[in-house]
Amino acid sequence: MRSFKLLIVVTCAALTAEPVRSAPSETRITPPGATVIVEFAERVDDAVSRDLLDWIDHVADQVSMPYGRFPLATTRVVIIPTEERTSSGRSPVPFGRVTRRGGETIELYVDVDRPIADMYADWTATHEFSHLLLPKISWRQKWISEGFASYYQNVLMARAGQYSQAQAVRKLSQGFDRGRGSRPELSPNQAAEEGVRYARYKIYWSGAAIALLADLRLRSRSDGKESLDTVLGRFQQCCLQSKKRWSGIQFFTRLDSLIDEPVFMPLYREHADTPGFPDTNNALSHPLLHEQVLGVRTSPN
Ligand SMILES: [Zn+2]
Repeated sequence: MRSFKLLIVVTCAALTAEPVRSAPSETRITPPGATVIVEFAERVDDAVSRDLLDWIDHVADQVSMPYGRFPLATTRVVIIPTEERTSSGRSPVPFGRVTRRGGETIELYVDVDRPIADMYADWTATHEFSHLLLPKISWRQKWISEGFASYYQNVLMARAGQYSQAQAVRKLSQGFDRGRGSRPELSPNQAAEEGVRYARYKIYWSGAAIALLADLRLRSRSDGKESLDTVLGRFQQCCLQSKKRWSGIQFFTRLDSLIDEPVFMPLYREHADTPGFPDTNNALSHPLLHEQVLGVRTSPN
């Protein structure tokens, strides 16, 4: 999820906006192995809607990169035009979220008046689509769902060419700095208990740091044959479609069962209940981050 505060603002804006002028239209796009149904909550200009559909297709392609196919067989995307007034520096996609009642739906609030290039440069949709790589995780370990999505939003923007490698590393580094400075007295699990409102950066970036550490451990011990991509690919084949809600321990234990030597539960035991922040200095300068994580579009396995 991008921002709860903005949801309130945008929802209020939506309530006071003019009524919908026509029935929502649906379009199907087909990333590898899947169908994504895109719906516009309000009618938008035909040329704009074509551009937006191309952009959603591009984001769906990004999230197909980790293991060469889209994570879920069917997903719905709802584009909700906002009345946000444009100003430089303001996101063209001020809010997004994934709901999982009766199938996965990604809601994206989009300032459709902004140039389409602004959408491609924005990370919100990539973040929300990246949530689909993971199952529903208990709110008590929200740092896993938000952290892994925050990690992949930067990795996939780099693989798609939207960020340079240096930009992606800088964004990860800045995120980790925010996470390190946020509620250092709390562990990730305690931060999740406190909630996003009180410990946002701790939740998002401690989880992203753990995703990076897991990815590098998998890659460095296997000569690049294993990675977070390949493990999540195996998880997708066995377990992602189930409607089960996973605790952090259940999810990490299942991931470890898909590899020879555990990586995820050791990281959980090291960090999940430990105040402070994982040490990411070596990880950010690790050659494999550039050579493989950010440099290879789709993992070989
Ligand atoms: Zn999120």
